[in-house]
Amino acid sequence: MRLSRYFIPTLKEIPAEAVIPSHQLMLRAGMIRGLSSGIYSLLPLGYRVWKKVMQIIREEMDAIGGMELHLPALNPREIWEETGRVEAFGDTMFHIKNRDLVLAPTHEEIITHLAQAFVHSYRDMPQIWYQIQTKFRNEPRPKSGVIRSRQFLMKDAYSLDNSWEGLDASYQKHYEAYCRIYSRCGLEFFVVGASSGAMGGSGSQEFMVESDAGEDLCAFNLESGYAANIEVAASRMPKVGRVDENPAAEKFATPTAKSIDDLVEQYGIPAERCAKALVYFADENPYLIFMSGNDQLNEAKLQTALKANNIRPAHDDELVALTGAHGGSIGPINLKSNIPQIADARLEHANDMVSGANEDGFHYRAIDLDRDANIQQYVDLRTVIEGEPDPIGGQPLKVKKAIEVGHIFKLGTKYSEALKALFLDDQGNSHPIIMGSYGIGVERIVACHIEQRHDKDGICWHPSIAPFQIQITGVKVENDTVREHAERFEAELEAAGFEVLYDDRTGVSPGFKFKDADLLGMPINVIVGEKHLNDGNVEIKIRSTGERRIVPVADVVATCESILAELGA
Ligand code: ATP
Ligand code: MG
Repeated sequence: MRLSRYFIPTLKEIPAEAVIPSHQLMLRAGMIRGLSSGIYSLLPLGYRVWKKVMQIIREEMDAIGGMELHLPALNPREIWEETGRVEAFGDTMFHIKNRDLVLAPTHEEIITHLAQAFVHSYRDMPQIWYQIQTKFRNEPRPKSGVIRSRQFLMKDAYSLDNSWEGLDASYQKHYEAYCRIYSRCGLEFFVVGASSGAMGGSGSQEFMVESDAGEDLCAFNLESGYAANIEVAASRMPKVGRVDENPAAEKFATPTAKSIDDLVEQYGIPAERCAKALVYFADENPYLIFMSGNDQLNEAKLQTALKANNIRPAHDDELVALTGAHGGSIGPINLKSNIPQIADARLEHANDMVSGANEDGFHYRAIDLDRDANIQQYVDLRTVIEGEPDPIGGQPLKVKKAIEVGHIFKLGTKYSEALKALFLDDQGNSHPIIMGSYGIGVERIVACHIEQRHDKDGICWHPSIAPFQIQITGVKVENDTVREHAERFEAELEAAGFEVLYDDRTGVSPGFKFKDADLLGMPINVIVGEKHLNDGNVEIKIRSTGERRIVPVADVVATCESILAELGA
């Protein structure tokens, strides 16, 4: 491929809208172009990378027996209502005006609809169906370029099984296929236990790439092997517990205590002995929630505990209407209304607690949660903090930022029950099909690859997904010897099966060409210039290491072959 004819609209300046390196470099290297918030055109150089990632995904999915299909992006809204997910997705789902249609953000419903029509016997399973297809999500904050966009490509796969053991086996196959996919794409990744969120189902794991550009936090300890998304991460924090002598609860004035820290400072109460009360709405039903001291409520854990599609904190006027007080003065005693109560596991059976009196400016002390509150459920609701003991080995947790590149779920029967996708077992009894769901963001693989493999000059592609494996830079191609040699290398390397981008531009300075080669980042740059040709040599530069080798003209193909092998092609 000749660079002079290839459409690569590179940019010299870093576009103001791009903050993270992968976004900046994709724009600068002419791989993508923004159309509107969270919507991108994939340009020829970029789309080559996308296609390579998709090819690797297809090979690995086919290798585990996956069958590729293609589902419509335009769906009747009704089928999404049957599973309750119009509500669960809320504003994130795109609706088509004046029609009962939606743009699919994922495809569990449509797969289950297919299964319901065609999979009726235990003998019809297992099945693994997958597609690589455009998904639409009206992300509230599209950002970081293609990492969080409103239209993106997802490989989504679904397994159908007739037993829970079958689901475990299908899940494991996907786990292993995913590890191979990311490794082949040259990504360093790790796996964490994850929350199932609006998807429902039992277990789920996420594939993560460590990055400052990440929106997810993961807690882990390498020694004990514990790793979890902060949305589910647990730690071994001691319970607050009980004291032997705990008199009746007593009200006291706290006119200037607005926070836990104020109570600690002004009254000498240990922070953990304060039961902080919060009010949340889960699918529009209010709940009173207690946390110990300054422990932070983890909304994902709360949503899971309440099995809710949506949760939100109560507004100020709702707080007053439900409890009688504003935030900071709410507690279990003298509540204005009888709202269900739930507390973090650290508070289980605790007494000698301080909490709001549901009257502004007053608290109660000596509260016994068993005696004075009406807590229906104690459950882990707190967000872990770096340094706390991990739940496996008690080793200190570390917390790091990461980007989610894939997510695998044991869905179970949530969708098959809702859409009545049933099968008959060998005794003739009817059961819902047992399902799994497995997603990979194609864009995120490309973006994470660049996040991990770039320097100040540009991208450093791994050969497996580089747009071209080899760039040839003709230094002053106006010179006949240079041009003839460059064209010869281009022909020989292409004949040897390599993808070659030949910078054949005339009237462009060598320095400019080298800068472009570094920006575009092909793994190998064969530099063809008069100086080395006079000695019968060319210079080969390895992008990722900066290493340069001077090799005889006759050895160019063999040297490229061996360097690419060294680089893991
Ligand atoms: P996130 O929490 O980052 O919004 P998600 O949990 O909504 O992701 P899934 O529904 O599990 O994502 O989708 C499967 C995969 O699709 C994700 O692992 C991710 O790689 C990709 N993906 C999800 N949302 C987007 C998006 N808005 N833009 C690009 N890729 C996305
Ligand atoms: Mg999302």
